[in-house]
Amino acid sequence: MATAVISMDPGVSRFVAAKHRMLINGKWVEAASGKTFPTYNPATGEVLSNIAEGDVADVNRAVAAARAAFESGPWPKMSPSERGRLVWKIGDLIEKYAEELAQLESLDNGKPLKVARAADVPLAADHFRYYAGWATKIEGNTISLGLAPADKFHAYTRREPVGVVAQIIPWNFPLLMAAWKLAPALAMGCTIVLKPAEQTPLSALRLGEIIQEAGIPDGVVNIVPGYGETAGAALAAHDDVDKVAFTGSTEVGKLILKAAAGNLKKVSLELGGKSPNIVFDDADLDRAISGAAGAIFFNHGQCCCAGSRLFIEKDIFDKVVDGVSQHAEKIRVRPGFDPECDMGPLVSEEQMNRVCGYMDSGKQEGAKAVTGGTRVGDKGYFVKPTVLVNTNDKMKVVQEEIFGPVVTAMPFSDASDIVPKSNDTIYGLAAGIWTRDIKKAHAVAAKLRAGTVWINCYNVFDAALPFGGYKQSGWGREMGHEVLENYTEVKTVCAAL
Ligand code: ADP
Repeated sequence: MATAVISMDPGVSRFVAAKHRMLINGKWVEAASGKTFPTYNPATGEVLSNIAEGDVADVNRAVAAARAAFESGPWPKMSPSERGRLVWKIGDLIEKYAEELAQLESLDNGKPLKVARAADVPLAADHFRYYAGWATKIEGNTISLGLAPADKFHAYTRREPVGVVAQIIPWNFPLLMAAWKLAPALAMGCTIVLKPAEQTPLSALRLGEIIQEAGIPDGVVNIVPGYGETAGAALAAHDDVDKVAFTGSTEVGKLILKAAAGNLKKVSLELGGKSPNIVFDDADLDRAISGAAGAIFFNHGQCCCAGSRLFIEKDIFDKVVDGVSQHAEKIRVRPGFDPECDMGPLVSEEQMNRVCGYMDSGKQEGAKAVTGGTRVGDKGYFVKPTVLVNTNDKMKVVQEEIFGPVVTAMPFSDASDIVPKSNDTIYGLAAGIWTRDIKKAHAVAAKLRAGTVWINCYNVFDAALPFGGYKQSGWGREMGHEVLENYTEVKTVCAAL
């Protein structure tokens, strides 16, 4: 395996082999307990740096700071235009520090540096800019009462910020997930306590510095790194948090919901998936094959919307499986800093063991790996891009979210057969359809129980496109104007004239 040859950005060097604090009320502070936790370089398994470990006491301090910033201080008094300008500035600063952020992301998460440069960082910058524009577009309605004469009442609605928001994010797109959460909440005037994933805290901490540099007032954004069972659980349960926004596994989503019940805080959840990707025999096959490979192998399959169930019309099954397998074999699995890296390591040893466990279970249940099926080497957390055939609906690899570069390929006979097969899952996050028949594409799209359907494309994300799940893939939507519902309350004002 080649070694890293890209030199480290000076801004990144200070994040390596160092100790980092958490951001509470505009100050970088140690954990109340004095404890730290390590974050690892998944390409080597070595400790990258140590981070202040947030727990209940730190969550309490951060929530108190967010509450104070929400109730008094400059933030609630700021005009929407001024707030929007600060949010825009975060986008500008992300662009200014793009290389540093991309390198941090690649080191901490394992993803190829070229992907962090081309996707994670520019999408995060764009996200802040998109929501900066929404700050000045918060509107209510004037409403005529149905049962009263028009001159007796004047009634209208106001959209107001929901309050103190807890945001708990995963490790697959650490910076981008922080942007998805922070940008709309800031634009709507909320204050925030953000908990990055314990596997990948570094880019969120750097983003905290950027947020300060942009001029967001103290206490508006607090960043408390730590473990899910401690810091995350304390945030989800906190009585003075008005809303919790979570992205992560369906299993933890259910825990968040239970924890939130104490004070009935508002909850939005963006959870797991087992998305069908459907190739009809009238598709442009070159496009469909490379699209199907990208749908599962992008970000090492560590995407909630990964096209992990590949359904292929039966007369082209072998051809598409061959094509996707050939793509898989060409993927160069290397450390993220290697310029020739197409796929880096999985994020952690735990994740690698989980994915290898699924590959083994598939084989034990009778599936066959056309390509892949094992770990790569014995250092770092690399696995081979894997295509499984001979699967059936009962197998764990078909039913459960693997969150790794493993796709199950299954034949189907026609449009009426594929809809129930696609919907036969507890999840409903995304789906893909590949066909030249526009009528069939839209007819099938309408029948799929999924929050996003991509036609002749996959993994197309844009701040303007709402994203979220049906069924156990979640509650509410991220992105688009729909996410603004998550961060606002509607107040009805009715005045007698
Ligand atoms: P994954 O299984 O992919 O690591 P998780 O759903 O476990 O995803 O983690 C996503 C985020 O949820 C992380 O920030 C993690 O620390 C947090 N988390 C995990 N468990 C809990 C919990 N019990 N309460 C609150 N947050 C949690």
